[in-house]
Amino acid sequence: GKTLRLILGDQLNASHSWFANTDENTLYVIAELHQEANYTKHHIQKICAFFSAMLSFSQALEKAGHKVIHLTLDDTTQYKDLPALLLALLDEHQVSCFEYQLPDEYRLREQLREFSTQLAIQTSVYESEHFFLEDHELCRFFTASKKHRLEAFYRKMRVRFNILMDGPEPLGGQWNYDADNRQKLKPQDYSAVPEPLLFSNDVQDILLRLKRHNISTIGKAETNLIWPTTRQQAFVLLDHFCQYGLVNFGRFQDAMSGRLDTLTEQKQWSLYHSRLSFALNAKMISPQQVIDRAVYHFHHAETDISLAQIEGFVRQILGWREFVRGIYWANMPDYAELNFLTAQNNLPKWFWSGDTKMRCLSHAVKQSLYYAYAHHIQRLMVTGNFCLIAGIHPDQVDEWYLGIYIDAIEWVEMPNTRGMSQFADGGIVGSKAYAASGNYINKMSDYCGDCHYKVKETATDNACPLNSLYWQFMDQHQEKFSNNPRTKMVYANWLKKEPEARESILSHANKLLSDLDNI
Ligand code: FAD
Repeated sequence: GKTLRLILGDQLNASHSWFANTDENTLYVIAELHQEANYTKHHIQKICAFFSAMLSFSQALEKAGHKVIHLTLDDTTQYKDLPALLLALLDEHQVSCFEYQLPDEYRLREQLREFSTQLAIQTSVYESEHFFLEDHELCRFFTASKKHRLEAFYRKMRVRFNILMDGPEPLGGQWNYDADNRQKLKPQDYSAVPEPLLFSNDVQDILLRLKRHNISTIGKAETNLIWPTTRQQAFVLLDHFCQYGLVNFGRFQDAMSGRLDTLTEQKQWSLYHSRLSFALNAKMISPQQVIDRAVYHFHHAETDISLAQIEGFVRQILGWREFVRGIYWANMPDYAELNFLTAQNNLPKWFWSGDTKMRCLSHAVKQSLYYAYAHHIQRLMVTGNFCLIAGIHPDQVDEWYLGIYIDAIEWVEMPNTRGMSQFADGGIVGSKAYAASGNYINKMSDYCGDCHYKVKETATDNACPLNSLYWQFMDQHQEKFSNNPRTKMVYANWLKKEPEARESILSHANKLLSDLDNI
């Protein structure tokens, strides 16, 4: 009999063992689905990137001799959801066996599990063969509700996969080079920052389909999509990163710049970041492939690349990426409900326009709408920090992040947003709330000089709103935070202020909180 194999939009892994042989009786199905285009309001470039990559992938499979059914939104519009479509296909093609790869998202995994238990025919489930850790191993590393720390996990991963090791010791003798990293970009550094490599993938047909089917989206539409949509493009982007980004990746990992990113000139806006997250999350390229190439380049490059740069890069992929996935699966579905700080405020309207007088936030939001991209520190310390100290409800924060970024898939988005940035998990993923005042932004960026607000002031009309919001946030959560040795100093400083000064800061913050839409 025939076998039907489902390939989801984020399972575009050409190296999967499924594709080692061709078989007349195996049908692959790749389908644009209304349920996927609509489960949240996505950035239009994100849907275009997935649909375009899915089409390229099905063409590549066909070329390699596989039997592929590629369905567009036009073809699937009559089915209410994925199970309904699958039922129709199983019937139409007289299928006797249904197979799929484990979805990385709880929502889809549940849907397919339920669907397959109701089927009379045989079902087989496969690993996606993408991550370093296999799915069934995660439970050995991660326990529900337990506070896990990256560092311990990361070291185990380095040893186990023998990456940047010197026998049993870490290469260079240290596990962590963060102290050498995290520098600010100074004006004399600007000219050396590379321009991002942009592709030009024609997505006109997809844009027309989205319009035809009334899919509602956010962000700027581009007929020529700048994101990689084939494995070959993913490797070209990786090589570009090895050649131009790696040398300063760690050093300027936390730096932010509003001057380099003139949105109209489209220059240097991604600094030294790789922009590989979409290609990785769609599984067009594997984390092993990315790390192997970067490590090879580190050893063989003509210009000297310091260990701190490659270690910082490996840590993100071998460490953080695998770590948040483990946290997600150990804690779902409960994780999606956590709100440790009982944050209740609404996300300000300018998160959909960038129209705020705070320059750092305006820039991070506008760039995100323009490119479906912001780098890690913009996400964590600009938009994320604002939501944290303004007490925005984590459901609304999650929804915004899940929609806007090119790489946003729930398994990686949620632990980063709800956990790391909003501390709504009470410290499962990170050891402290990443709350900061304007001082941090000023230290790591060039935003503040040109801002409407004054970063050195706290309670005046033109004071940087982050300052008073920060203090009111810390004051409000004193009970929850004061046990943490990392915040002791903060409270000592707060209590050193005169009572009237504290009062005026809190009342300024409350004034801001009552009208967040107009900051
Ligand atoms: P680079 O800076 O070049 O890093 C290289 C790779 O490391 C990335 O491509 C990514 O695969 C991995 N990586 C780095 N940091 C993390 C991290 N914290 N967690 C997991 N992987 C990481 N990443 C997503 O892939 N999808 C998301 O939806 C997402 N949402 C986020 C939300 C918030 C609030 C925060 C603070 C971070 C989020 N991240 C997310 C992590 C990180 O910001 C992005 O992976 C990164 O900015 C992507 O850009 P890049 O490829 O240029 O990364």
